[in-house]
Amino acid sequence: QKIHAENKVYKVGTDLTFAPFEFQNDSGEYIGIDIDLLNTIAKKQNFTVDLKPLGFNSSVQAVQSGQVNAMIAGMSVTEERKKSFDFSNPYFIGGISMAVHGDNTEIKSYDDLKGKVVAVKTGTVSANYVDKIKDKYGFTVKSYDSADALYDVINVGGADAIFDDYPIIDYSITKGKSLKRVGDIQERCDYAFAVKKGTNQELVKMFNEGLKELKQTKEYDGIIAKYTSNSS
Ligand code: GLN
Repeated sequence: QKIHAENKVYKVGTDLTFAPFEFQNDSGEYIGIDIDLLNTIAKKQNFTVDLKPLGFNSSVQAVQSGQVNAMIAGMSVTEERKKSFDFSNPYFIGGISMAVHGDNTEIKSYDDLKGKVVAVKTGTVSANYVDKIKDKYGFTVKSYDSADALYDVINVGGADAIFDDYPIIDYSITKGKSLKRVGDIQERCDYAFAVKKGTNQELVKMFNEGLKELKQTKEYDGIIAKYTSNSS
């Protein structure tokens, strides 16, 4: 069922690099689970997406300041965020994990983080989580705005461990990054499309309606499989 007939343009913030959810192909076009879901839904519901790859934290701020209408960025639905965002129905279940360099034999659990440096991306669930446990395990935290910087720092020895969403860690491992996950997945939660609380309600309705249709037609499964079939 189409919610709205007129073809309206919506600015949608997304992350810079958060593969397999959003990343650039060789021609510089944005692809990934989030992008394909959003574009397919937009086609079915007859709206146009003006994608703004701002980065995660910048997207959060751009939604709140009204610079963009919505965001899709592997964004976890949390109670805290529900105070300032309205979320669509969930389209994925994520969670976070610690990872260390593939050659690291020293860090086998959180207990080995004493005196170490842990890196995270600003404004994420991971950043929140390490903040909660840093005193208990005695490590210090470095924050980066982009995933590129976060994943580089572990290669150049600028940090001993990172925390990020586990599908992103797994994807980068399948793409040849020397990384390994350590410990259990924490903070499992839904990913959803988000708007500033109380605004763009029609857009959320269209997203939900489109998502429902993609699940019925199995196009949803096709998109997920396309980007995750090689990962563990
Ligand atoms: N799922 C995490 C969060 O919402 C990370 C999202 C991201 O880095 N794009 O905080």
